[in-house]
Amino acid sequence: MTNAQPLLDVQHLSKSFVIGKKLLDEGQTLRAVDDVSFTLERGESLGVVGESGCGKSTLGRTLLRLYEPTSGRVVLAIDGAASDFSTIKGEALKQMRRKLQMVFQDPSASLNPRMTIRDILREPFAIHRHVPAAEIEARIRGLMAEVGLREDALDRFPHSFSGGQKQRIGIARALALEPDLIVLDEPVSALDVSIRGQVLNLLKDLQRGRGLSYIFISHDLAAVQYIADRIAVMYLGRIVELASAQSFYAAPRHPYALALLSALPVPNPKLRRGRQPPRGTIPSPINPPSGCHFHTRCPFATAGARLHRCSGEVPQLREIASKHWARCHFAEEIQQSSLAVR
Ligand code: SF4
Repeated sequence: MTNAQPLLDVQHLSKSFVIGKKLLDEGQTLRAVDDVSFTLERGESLGVVGESGCGKSTLGRTLLRLYEPTSGRVVLAIDGAASDFSTIKGEALKQMRRKLQMVFQDPSASLNPRMTIRDILREPFAIHRHVPAAEIEARIRGLMAEVGLREDALDRFPHSFSGGQKQRIGIARALALEPDLIVLDEPVSALDVSIRGQVLNLLKDLQRGRGLSYIFISHDLAAVQYIADRIAVMYLGRIVELASAQSFYAAPRHPYALALLSALPVPNPKLRRGRQPPRGTIPSPINPPSGCHFHTRCPFATAGARLHRCSGEVPQLREIASKHWARCHFAEEIQQSSLAVR
């Protein structure tokens, strides 16, 4: 393995679901993740953003094989060796799973209400046996301290903790296996605004201290801006923009990304003139629009030759500035001012 090898190399990953019985669309295919490719470096945070139903949570789950991929590869470079995580099985899969952990949106639902916090944190050690039994209690106490919780909370049950504390327990459980990568699926969305900043700061501190890589899935572009080094915007299963956070927030190049950014709260009312959040609702991924999936909502393609091309030709993800990719036929022409409301 060379130093240049990314921790994660996702190649043309797709995940489809066949619609089940009793539903009107029975037998049809839903492409939740559609030909997604990206890399993630060690210690890097990738923010994955988009509206509900864009495929971002399915992407996170497919990366970790909570859902089996329909096609594509997920190459992981761990402990000096690169392997295709999307195909390994048995003990090798179990060992590799240790290195990839997930923190879920709802901390109440992800903690067993009948188990004490000590038992919840002991479980990963019992399953993976990566630490001698005599050391486990010290490790559990260390994890509690690391996430800012007191040791005397270990004998309590989840219901006696606040939402923020429960999410800290969820993070401690993920850390128990000494992962290289954590997929954080809307980790602060269910928390009070006042608590979100504390949990985000904790995640940043843990990343610095442990050299962790994050995939941070969220619809909250403000939270993503705070934590992510790079941003991937998803729409109907596809990545439509991929760039460094700096480049993305300074000059987004896809109309959908512009619309999402327009929906961010702006403290200065004079700046609201140019805001134009996404119009309409996201179409069904079972039968997505032809050509560019976004053409039915795109304010940049409303008529004429432009609409003709957008509805008839699938745009490719193109590098339109240094390390800044966008999936739009007209990305070079898109600027924030081009979509301003007058
Ligand atoms: Fe809009 Fe056309 Fe670009 Fe799609 S390809 S985002 S419809 S301008």
